[in-house]
Amino acid sequence: MEAPITYEVIVREELFQIEDVPALVCRNCGEQWLDDDVKNNLELMVAESAGPEPNVH
Ligand SMILES: [Zn+2]
Repeated sequence: MEAPITYEVIVREELFQIEDVPALVCRNCGEQWLDDDVKNNLELMVAESAGPEPNVH
């Protein structure tokens, strides 16, 4: 079934939470899948929020 979830990801020790992400959730075991497009969008959003990677020399 499809259900909104809160997607959580930690980038450079900072927690990002994105609410109401449409996901597929298994009725039996509760496992969650994200559509590839949704996942790509989330990664872009998080990358923008996190800002550019610090340069390490
Ligand atoms: Zn399952």
